[in-house]
Amino acid sequence: MSFKALNQNYSTVYTLDEWERNLIHVTPYCPVCGVVTEKAAGSTLRKTHFAHSIQNTDCPTINDNRRKYLLLSPVGLDTENGRDLINWTKLTCGTCIRNVRKFSKDVLSFKSFRIC
Ligand SMILES: [Zn+2]
Repeated sequence: MSFKALNQNYSTVYTLDEWERNLIHVTPYCPVCGVVTEKAAGSTLRKTHFAHSIQNTDCPTINDNRRKYLLLSPVGLDTENGRDLINWTKLTCGTCIRNVRKFSKDVLSFKSFRIC
């Protein structure tokens, strides 16, 4: 059950209200698993929502599918991947700054990139 759906034409997620106002003839997709959904009528216990059009989908947005993840314990701090990510960020930012300086003919300095 979801109150949002994906418009695959624009890769944009819209709320049920937006969908009813502007996208009535567009097929809604689940933004998590990509399966076609359809508007399901509300009841006294549930509001109107998007529901998967096919049964037995493996989508984690369905409550019954979450049970298999309950036994997974949280992982510890992954310092090895953390260091790799920091190094990748430094390299990527350094390359970006060097290219901007080159294209701006050194008008922009490192200080120009700092966010207050
Ligand atoms: Zn789904």
